[in-house]
Amino acid sequence: MADLSAARETLQRVFGHDDFRGLQADVVSEVLDGRDVVAVLPTGGGKSFCYQIPAMLREGVGLVVSPLIALMQDQVAALRSAGVAAARLDSTLDRDARREWLSAAREGKLDLLYVSPEGLFAQGFLDFLEQCPIALIAIDEAHCVSQWGHDFRPDYRALGQLADRFPGVPRMAVTATADLKTQADIRTQLRLDHAKSFIASFDRPNLVLSAERKGAKAQDRIYDLVRAGRGKSGIIYAATRDSVEKTAANLQALKIPALAYHAGLDASLRAERQQRFQEEDDVVMVATIAFGMGVDKPNVRYVIHADSPKSIEAYWQEVGRGGRDGETAEGFCIYSASDLRRAIMFANQSNATDQVKAVQIKKARQLFAFLDGLTCRRGGVRRYFGEENVEPCGVCDICTDPPTSIDATELAAKAISAVMRMDQRVGRGRVVNHLLGRTGDGLDEQYASRSTFGIGADQGEPMWRNVIEHLLFEGVLSEGDDQRPTLSIGDDEAVRAIFRKEREVRMREAAKPTRRSKEDRRASRIAKGAAKAGFEGADAKLFEALKGWRRESAHANGVPPYVIFHDATLAEMVRAKPSDLVGLGRISGIGEAKLKKYGAEVLAVLITGI
Ligand code: ADP
Ligand code: ZN
Repeated sequence: MADLSAARETLQRVFGHDDFRGLQADVVSEVLDGRDVVAVLPTGGGKSFCYQIPAMLREGVGLVVSPLIALMQDQVAALRSAGVAAARLDSTLDRDARREWLSAAREGKLDLLYVSPEGLFAQGFLDFLEQCPIALIAIDEAHCVSQWGHDFRPDYRALGQLADRFPGVPRMAVTATADLKTQADIRTQLRLDHAKSFIASFDRPNLVLSAERKGAKAQDRIYDLVRAGRGKSGIIYAATRDSVEKTAANLQALKIPALAYHAGLDASLRAERQQRFQEEDDVVMVATIAFGMGVDKPNVRYVIHADSPKSIEAYWQEVGRGGRDGETAEGFCIYSASDLRRAIMFANQSNATDQVKAVQIKKARQLFAFLDGLTCRRGGVRRYFGEENVEPCGVCDICTDPPTSIDATELAAKAISAVMRMDQRVGRGRVVNHLLGRTGDGLDEQYASRSTFGIGADQGEPMWRNVIEHLLFEGVLSEGDDQRPTLSIGDDEAVRAIFRKEREVRMREAAKPTRRSKEDRRASRIAKGAAKAGFEGADAKLFEALKGWRRESAHANGVPPYVIFHDATLAEMVRAKPSDLVGLGRISGIGEAKLKKYGAEVLAVLITGI
């Protein structure tokens, strides 16, 4: 194993952190020894140092392949502000700058060079690189190479050929999200068969999660949550451009600084909004999933899914954009059986192969079973990613307010019978009416003579809606994709098992707590999670003063505030209140370059409080 003292020294001197954490030291050591690695570390787990530090220590330039310009811009800005020789080659760069960076790379004067896959395979570029000393090749967001992952990018496939082009150069695949199948795919596609894998826990202890079925006033729930988090930065994901625009407009009407973001907007408008979100402290971004991978703002305090995501991986990655700074962040998801239907419809309509479609549909079903399930949220995700011996998180909605479940096997059998007796030709409303023994129009009457008519009259309408929804989530029933979807049998085998009472249907009890008590519980959950973050009195003022200084200084330097210092670093300053540069330099996140550049100004704020 490589001696890590130089790596630690670099981490301290350049980035101001005391020591590696999690699997960083293992990954760095492996790469310093010149071997390939596959590293799956959760968001906020510090993936970047895993390749940045070896790139700085090994001879030559570290090549980082990254899928998005925004992502590269941020990392390069952060590296430069820490005094590291880093550059990126992308389409926004002019000729002279490009030439300058390329010659720096050839002369070994550059530590890190970021490039997109297209840039990498552009005419002649690989030939050029072959003449440069290369320290390592890191492939960021490596899950993009896999069709089983959820951000598949065909151009990532070509990255496998780097194995032949650069023999002897350690190659690294890094990502925050890859289930077992995706991991296997990364290894084969990127030709990392001999690489050692470093798979961290998927736990994100600072995320406080909850999910709810969409009620009649689903939209109001979202506005309430955003209002409760006023002044904080958050992301709201919605499924369509239309609902994105509407939600943003409604929030603006409530005087919340909300921005809309989706692929239908002009690229420059999108860039401008993304920048505002990155730079301002209280902006709420309402977006489709087009807003995603490049977002690494550290102080996103909540992520709301107004429509459900595509899979558990997508959920985890999207929610994972909250709380990168390690402070408490909230994830809230509302979902319905119609969301599931939409997900299945999209999968079916995509031009993927049948095999890929089947995987997508399975993933959607797993997600809904998870959302509507009865087990700890964080625990559920971790088990999904293959972790074992997972403890409940203690702060999610399920842990703090365990839903009561009932044995609904018999109810399920009745509902399924009704669907079958109605020839699998009617939708949810009609099936419920039929079970209750209600007739409406001609079609219902036509079925009134069937044996299932009125067999559910002992229950109320909400119960039957709940049962049907649950059977949809479990995939026992399924719904067509048209405007007025009809219910049909989704899984014959499951149906037989339910009829024979070999399969128990356990579902959440429909009765919901009143809104008030739900809000109270939510508040206490957040408080539990947030206990360590908040400041009061003079400290709160000092924290604000530091943020004010950071805002101005960010503006003056043309970078996002967190490139200067993260919230966590400011918070530590407030706690430690150093009175000189030596004390300030001990704070995590302040390396040599930043101490020199900002030290005096920060001390002035710390000492005078303004
Ligand atoms: P990822 O890309 O894995 O989401 P980053 O590399 O952006 O994560 O790091 C997330 C945050 O954690 C950054 O603010 C970084 O400065 C911080 N960080 C990473 N490693 C360490 C460490 N060893 N000690 C302290 N802070 C760290
Ligand atoms: Zn939990």
